[in-house]
Amino acid sequence: MTFKEMNLHPTLLEGMDAMGFEKPTPIQEQAIPICLGGKDMIGIAQTGTGKTAAFVLPTIHKVLSTPDESKIKTLIIVPTRELAVQIDQAIEGFAYFTGISSMAIYGGGDGKEFKQEKTALTSGIDIVIATPGRMISHLNLGYVDFSQLQTLILDEADRMLDMGFQRDLQRILDHVNKDRQTLFFSATMPSKIMDFAKGILKSPEVVKIALSKPAEGVLQGAYVLHQSQKPEMLVELFKGKDVKSAIVFSSTKKNVINIHRILKRAGISTGAISSDLEQKEREEVLLQFKNRRIAVLVATDVVSRGIDIDNIELVVNYDVPGDAEDYVHRIGRTARASATGVGITFVSQDEQYKFLKIEELIGSEIRKLQAPERLGETPEYKPKSGGGQRRFGNKGRGGNQKNKGKFSKGKGGNNSKRKPRPKKGE
Ligand code: AMP
Repeated sequence: MTFKEMNLHPTLLEGMDAMGFEKPTPIQEQAIPICLGGKDMIGIAQTGTGKTAAFVLPTIHKVLSTPDESKIKTLIIVPTRELAVQIDQAIEGFAYFTGISSMAIYGGGDGKEFKQEKTALTSGIDIVIATPGRMISHLNLGYVDFSQLQTLILDEADRMLDMGFQRDLQRILDHVNKDRQTLFFSATMPSKIMDFAKGILKSPEVVKIALSKPAEGVLQGAYVLHQSQKPEMLVELFKGKDVKSAIVFSSTKKNVINIHRILKRAGISTGAISSDLEQKEREEVLLQFKNRRIAVLVATDVVSRGIDIDNIELVVNYDVPGDAEDYVHRIGRTARASATGVGITFVSQDEQYKFLKIEELIGSEIRKLQAPERLGETPEYKPKSGGGQRRFGNKGRGGNQKNKGKFSKGKGGNNSKRKPRPKKGE
């Protein structure tokens, strides 16, 4: 099926054409007709599948097909500011020839931005993309009118519940038009999330796009180390190598600062981003990274989901992500388009069991790489017996030895075709 066959609005098709969207991805093929048909939907899909366009395209089409009464027609709730901005940018691109208005509304800015948001909300912008907390702040002031809302979309719902937004979401739901269509997107669907979804959706259709598998083309490897060896191993990865674009992930903000310091001290061009930073600073660092003025971005998971940064050569997990899904999201930052990327994970003794769970989730064993001998003894990978005994250097590594210097390759599951976004008006 082509986008044209889906009978999307011609001005929308023009925008899609300009953005290089020719063929729908599987989630788009399945979800767009359901969304256009007006039914509620649960989409189980992760970033990289093309899920954003799967809900944005039918939404724009619907807005275009209804008379403009200066009322908010679509509300998209997302967990993070970055995702809000990214969805807004996608809408801007698709809707470029349509005259549809949209705005990303999120916390962290100054009073001026709040006023601008208020003006947009009261004048009835077509599509609002908001983080839950900020949306509540505006709702509390009483001027937001969701009575004509056609579509409510929750994106990365699992993430929002993980972040403790359930009550905020419930409060937003209390304010929106009951006749709306609701689209619910989540990368995972444990029973807690399914129950939540059932409570807010009317006989939804379910579209599930595979699996938590790293994108094809990601070469994965792991260094099994003592925690204290991680800084040196990190410097080793970058020192003297011409890495132009890499992300180092850590689960904690404190570690992000430490890692940033370690790399800086080693003379590696680096910037850090975590939710502690002001919005403006985060945007500035991201921009520098995208423009290749910074080679290594150190980040918490804030940027691991949803953010569309292309052509990253290397992703390093300085620690093993707590959630196996996060592993897939983190290394999903590399090997976009048809490029090949490398995903390396540092596994300390305490983290071995968690790492095993990741291997189980993705259905393949990730190669254990040999740390340089001068780092000293490294633990063996024995995840089931509490994290391995001490060994020295390369000797006696048994199973690990034969894997020296090799990687395992991702098994597919990412169906998106990516093209660089054209400049507006091109
Ligand atoms: P998403 O999973 O929504 O984050 O999308 C991932 C990336 O794939 C984004 O860069 C999209 O612009 C791109 N993309 C999604 N669908 C298509 C398509 N049908 N054709 C070309 N690029 C696409």
